[in-house]
Amino acid sequence: MLREVAEGVLVRQSRFCESNAVVVMGDSGVLLVDPGVGDSDLTDLADELDRLNLRVAMGFSTHPHWDHLIWHARFGSAPRYGTHRCALTAEARLTDARTKAERIAEQVPLDSLGLIEGLPEGTARLPWDGPSVRILEHRAHAPGHAALLVEHRGVLIAGDMLSDVEVPLLDLHAEAPIEDYLEALRMFDAVADGVDVVVPGHGSIGNNEELRRRIDQDRAYVAALIDGRDPDDARVGPSATYGRDWLPAEHRSQLEYARERADRIRSS
Ligand SMILES: [Zn+2]
Repeated sequence: MLREVAEGVLVRQSRFCESNAVVVMGDSGVLLVDPGVGDSDLTDLADELDRLNLRVAMGFSTHPHWDHLIWHARFGSAPRYGTHRCALTAEARLTDARTKAERIAEQVPLDSLGLIEGLPEGTARLPWDGPSVRILEHRAHAPGHAALLVEHRGVLIAGDMLSDVEVPLLDLHAEAPIEDYLEALRMFDAVADGVDVVVPGHGSIGNNEELRRRIDQDRAYVAALIDGRDPDDARVGPSATYGRDWLPAEHRSQLEYARERADRIRSS
């Protein structure tokens, strides 16, 4: 069910991993960000858009992970974008994304998986007919990851960051995963004054106070990793219910990475 979180900004949460699809109303159609995963979720969203008489004018993938690269024929043939680096990565890892999509989620439409176009490097705003949308590109979590700031609506579409259910998930293939993550959090901090609503890729929507709490919570998690300590974080604690089948494993491999890093630094 789509719900309005700010003027002209609607969010629909999927069953799969509490994924949030975001719809931003424009002058000649809507912007659809990270539509969702399962076929039934996507067709429900298409039904809702039909009922509201909304046509998709543009798609956007926040980052090149498979669950953010899915599309459904019913959204039509609008151009789909990501950052330049996001599109390059999506293309290079398409087979891998397809394998993951097939293995993890049942009934995922795969026909147009990852068919996004890269915006020219350094594009600051989405080229579309609608409210100004700033592209906040960073290197945390995945190459070419971008958050979108819907200016004058005060909505930050965070992609796989600032979640209340997922701990920071580092891109362990990057050269400096921890530094990249902190840099992205600094960027969110810098725009926080203009944000009333934060929409994470997975989890619940928050207000400004919650945004600041999440930035602090994610900083604390990363700070623990820097020290090679196991972060005391409820999202991977014993009472956590989200992502039980995979999140603790991701957390453990990050911890292992962090401990090796801390040892390396101590001995150098
Ligand atoms: Zn992701």
